Amino acid sequence: MRTFKKSSKLDNVLYDVRGPVLDEANRMTDQGIHVLKLNIGNPAPFGFRTPDEVVKDMQDQLVDCEGYSESRGLFSARKAIMQYDQLKGIPNVDVEDIYTGNGASELINLVMQAFLDDGDEILIPSPDYPLWTACATLAGGNVVHYVCDEQQHWYPDIDDIRKKITPRTKGIVIINPNNPTGVLYPKEVLEQIVEVARENQLVIFSDEIYDRLVMDGQEHVSIASLAPDLFCITFNGLSKSHMIAGYRIGWMSLSGNKRIAHDVIEGINMLSNMRLCSNVPAQSIVQTCLGGIQRSQGYLVPGGRIFEQRKYVYERLCNMEGVSAVHPDAAFYIFPHLDPKKFNITDDDQFALDLLKDKHVLIVGGKGFNWTTPGYFRIVYLPRLHTLEEAMDSLEDFLSYYRQ
Ligand code: PLP
Repeated sequence: MRTFKKSSKLDNVLYDVRGPVLDEANRMTDQGIHVLKLNIGNPAPFGFRTPDEVVKDMQDQLVDCEGYSESRGLFSARKAIMQYDQLKGIPNVDVEDIYTGNGASELINLVMQAFLDDGDEILIPSPDYPLWTACATLAGGNVVHYVCDEQQHWYPDIDDIRKKITPRTKGIVIINPNNPTGVLYPKEVLEQIVEVARENQLVIFSDEIYDRLVMDGQEHVSIASLAPDLFCITFNGLSKSHMIAGYRIGWMSLSGNKRIAHDVIEGINMLSNMRLCSNVPAQSIVQTCLGGIQRSQGYLVPGGRIFEQRKYVYERLCNMEGVSAVHPDAAFYIFPHLDPKKFNITDDDQFALDLLKDKHVLIVGGKGFNWTTPGYFRIVYLPRLHTLEEAMDSLEDFLSYYRQ
């Protein structure tokens, strides 16, 4: 009988955030076992509701959203995004330079396809949000991971970036604020990255999906605002800032020196046209979401859920023997580290699997974020405090007997 194999294009593509450990968690759930899932940054299941105004505005516009839109997206959505970019100082962005997508994810994939030829090199952080590595690899690119340095608040290691540039390097990806580390990069670090990109004529891709989830009065700086002479693509969306990941709405803005990327833009346009357009009902609420008071701000200040949950998880982790963690500035992730002198971990997936089986708590090991040193894992601290308390108790107990 003829059997069918998946395309060999997928041979080197890894996407372990939804990999074998999750399969086991799903198997357990099917057996009626309750699993506490701290593995995915999906706010809605944890009681973060869409603002009423957003739901109402989408309802009201639904009858007008039956047709395809222009392939880049509705004018009203793109105009609102353009104005948002202006406020962030992103230079040279016109309505025509903005593309809406079914989440930033669709556009990351689209751009990697348009930009990379087989064997082209692209610098991607390690640890990363693994979709970047997966999409660049699927597009035929050769992903070169640059290191983010835990000792330096997980900032990109500029020397490492420099060392890894070759004549085939075409672009650099930054994720700021970062997933999985939750840190925010200061302007000085961004300026250094721009300098390297300028010296080596690289395109900058900046994933800023968490830019409206920054805490402690810090300000997010868009790297594109520092690089008017370079070609930059900035990715953003409403999945996290408005807790509406299921509506699927994200966007990208092309900025700076677009002349040098005329041909790439032609490719982006072609691929954008081929997918017809993104989800129109979700585009219809972009203007509502980007204007006025940002409701997520209430979550990010003392007394707000994300602020308090971060504080709780960070403090609990720091009080566990052999565990350390960098204090996150933004988003809802923390990326702790187990002391190798106290824990003998050689495989993060095995650690995650053991924790899952013993304590029914699901986390993702560092390997899932293309981080090669074992003993790291990411916790999503979206659940309410009482659930996080249970999770931290379980983790602490588990670690007490997992030690060497
Ligand atoms: N970029 C980063 C850094 C993310 O963490 C995520 C989702 O977790 C995405 C992009 C995807 O976002 P979207 O829902 O807009 O596709």
